[in-house]
Amino acid sequence: MTPSGLVRFGVAPDHPKIKSVTRVFDKTARMPGFNFHGNVEVGTDVTHEQLANAYHAVLYAVGTPRDRRLGIEGEDLPGSVSATDFVAWYNGHPDYADMDFDLSSRRAVVVGNGNVALDVARMLALSVDELSVTDIADHAIELLRASQVEEIVVLGRRGPVQAAFTNPELRELAELELADVVVDPADIELDASSTATLAQADVTTARNVETLTSYAALTPSGKPRKVVLRFLTSPVAIEGDGKVEAIVVERNALVESEDGSLKAQPTGERERIETGIVLRSIGYVGTQLPGVPFDDRRMTVLNRDGRVLDSQTGEPLPGVYAAGWIKRGPSGVIGTNKKCAQETTTLLLEDFANGRLPEPSASSEELLTTLRTTVDVVDYSGWEAIDAHERALGEPTGRPRVKLVRREEQLERATVRA
Ligand code: NAP
Repeated sequence: MTPSGLVRFGVAPDHPKIKSVTRVFDKTARMPGFNFHGNVEVGTDVTHEQLANAYHAVLYAVGTPRDRRLGIEGEDLPGSVSATDFVAWYNGHPDYADMDFDLSSRRAVVVGNGNVALDVARMLALSVDELSVTDIADHAIELLRASQVEEIVVLGRRGPVQAAFTNPELRELAELELADVVVDPADIELDASSTATLAQADVTTARNVETLTSYAALTPSGKPRKVVLRFLTSPVAIEGDGKVEAIVVERNALVESEDGSLKAQPTGERERIETGIVLRSIGYVGTQLPGVPFDDRRMTVLNRDGRVLDSQTGEPLPGVYAAGWIKRGPSGVIGTNKKCAQETTTLLLEDFANGRLPEPSASSEELLTTLRTTVDVVDYSGWEAIDAHERALGEPTGRPRVKLVRREEQLERATVRA
């Protein structure tokens, strides 16, 4: 329905600067020949085959929408939720607007050590005042206002040197109005292998270790909430009678794996942490688009450098491309995806220049006409009407926008064009 998928539904509401990348989309949208057809789902409203027949090229940049699974007992108990769902919910994705999260317990546990885990931990720690100036969905402000969570425990299965989060996101935790950040000095002591890795590590890793060391030296200032960062700790089971009551974790040691990296190995030392909510933030996976070859191992579209491959021959399927997380897997920031998209479109243009794009066998106009008989297609001016309305709603309270989180509301606004 709306463009700017990752910016609208992935980037944390308290990171407005990152969202300014939408200006690039707006610039592209003003170019002659550009058309946006929103509220159209490939596989439901239109098939890949119909698109491939009607256009010289089809490029999928659909992201990786599902969560990776922990594969432990109790993972499906109510109160064990995926960060994927939580993020989409607080960012106002229409498919997640009716979700509910139980924030009535004193402690929340976030599993994972990436930037999404830190986003989720921060959202639980931010004050209503801090949230109220963002574009977070109104339903999320209401639930977070009533939150009883005082302690957010973030579990990393490996050590500080192996953490996947980046340094600005880690440093942000020290700026929270209502929460202290807590790190046990014993938890960030490095073993010999990690010390050796650190000596050759990139600047992000070195800064992360520096920041964590400074956190470990802090005395909590008595703020009402705390974010506790724990390392070398893996969940082994989620327990509860009908809903989450605790998570059982096991201490890990780092051992060298076949490829030379350090992996977590359980030591047998277990602990039970009481909690009412576990947020699993261990990465995303892609889902197959009907009719588009899929790589079951990588959970991405089957492709080479962005050219989608025929699953039988392994050769490029003429005119079919992929970019972003559905091409490479779920890693990298917006800049990484921008570069990735440029790489794919360079190949597309190369294929065009070399006459390798197939001639359409059907009319794209006819396809759209047929589509409009069954779907309320939203064009770019429809989106601009939604955008202007949301911004206007936010203005009186100094918010960037108040998101419309229901498809019907968005459709109505897009059609009214007021
Ligand atoms: P990520 O960076 O790949 O982190 C996944 C984390 O989950 C890793 O710490 C990983 O540990 C851990 N993990 C995986 N399997 C696990 C298991 N079975 N048990 C316990 N832990 C497990 O993924 P992400 O946080 O979803 O982020 C995706 C991408 O989006 C990243 O590139 C991230 O930087 C980017 N992003 C950026 C921002 C930002 O710029 N502010 C915000 C959000 C996301 P191991 O390392 O041990 O595998």
